[in-house]
Amino acid sequence: MQCIVLGAGVSGLTTAVCLLRAGWRVRVVAERHSPHTTSDVPAAFFFPYGTARDPATLGWVRASHRVFARLARDDATGVRARPATAVGDPSDVGWWLPPTDRRPAPGGARAAIAFTSFVIDMRRYMPWLRRTVAALGGRFETRQVARLADLDAPVVVCCAGLGARTLAGDPSVRPVRGQILRVTDPGLSEVVVDESDPTAPTYVVPRGDDCIVGGTFEPGRTDLSPDPEARAAVLARARRLVPRLCGAHFLEDRVGLRPGRPAVRVAVTREPATGRTIAFDYGHGGAGVTLSWGCALALRRQLARGRPTATGQMRVPP
Ligand SMILES: Cc1cc2nc3c(=O)[nH]c(=O)nc-3n(C[C@H](O)[C@H](O)[C@H](O)COP(=O)(O)OP(=O)(O)OC[C@H]3O[C@@H](n4cnc5c(N)ncnc54)[C@H](O)[C@@H]3O)c2cc1C
Repeated sequence: MQCIVLGAGVSGLTTAVCLLRAGWRVRVVAERHSPHTTSDVPAAFFFPYGTARDPATLGWVRASHRVFARLARDDATGVRARPATAVGDPSDVGWWLPPTDRRPAPGGARAAIAFTSFVIDMRRYMPWLRRTVAALGGRFETRQVARLADLDAPVVVCCAGLGARTLAGDPSVRPVRGQILRVTDPGLSEVVVDESDPTAPTYVVPRGDDCIVGGTFEPGRTDLSPDPEARAAVLARARRLVPRLCGAHFLEDRVGLRPGRPAVRVAVTREPATGRTIAFDYGHGGAGVTLSWGCALALRRQLARGRPTATGQMRVPP
């Protein structure tokens, strides 16, 4: 019941909380901690953007939704339930919702559904996750790890995001650059998302003190400097989607590299030479916050059973 979780982004911290609550002794080892991880970049909001639509993914999405609904009742978490609209055919954009929850959105020229999303303010949520890990007895270490074999524990869980490309020897992990903007909140009350163009998703996420507007989806691009042309294009799309944004002022760009992979990897393996258990939870692309609790809980169940897991598919445009 001793393990090392490698990675201190949302996947690693959530996995650590799940294991600690089940009585494990956990060390979280990472080169970068909050606020310096990819998980500190997004708004974020709950939506299974770009995920596969298989039973495993559906299970992760719904399990996460249940946990975020509980967390939204505690102000300290930084999670808030928010009304949301997703533009598109209800059975398409609402594929993950029970059919009875796919309500047509009022007004508007295009088909859309109304649903309840969660705005997960990562400025508050990541510190809350870290506090929870510490309160449950978890320990943190800061170091770069060259090989999983260098970690001294009977169970190692690799939640390394893009770092899994090297650590897990997995060339299918690749960066998908995302640029989003922070603007003033002109008093909006709902999240609006239009992902009909997967290479140019448009979303507006009001947070009260500011509003996040997204975004870009650029597989293979790795520079982190803001692109002014992309900023103008994102803002123009967002203003068409939510005209009230015309009164908002630009505050800053935020750029990050999503850990893309053709399929999210949630798996438990055993090293034949040493008998050690090596588990994996990485490759969440643009939905790592949304999937975090579902994947971590599935991994915990699988570690308790000691059997290999099913994997879900993640759609990454070519
Ligand atoms: C612009 C943008 C907007 C997004 N919006 C949303 C959204 O609205 N909703 C949503 O659900 N998702 C969103 N995402 C996706 C989400 O941010 C990611 O899927 C998620 O943060 C991935 O988390 P992670 O913990 O797996 O990886 P990371 O946050 O990258 O953490 C990886 C950890 O592993 C450590 N590590 C890696 N390699 C090593 C090594 N060799 N040695 C030691 N430590 C190592 C790192 O230091 C870090 O601590 C967005 C992403 C971006 C970029």
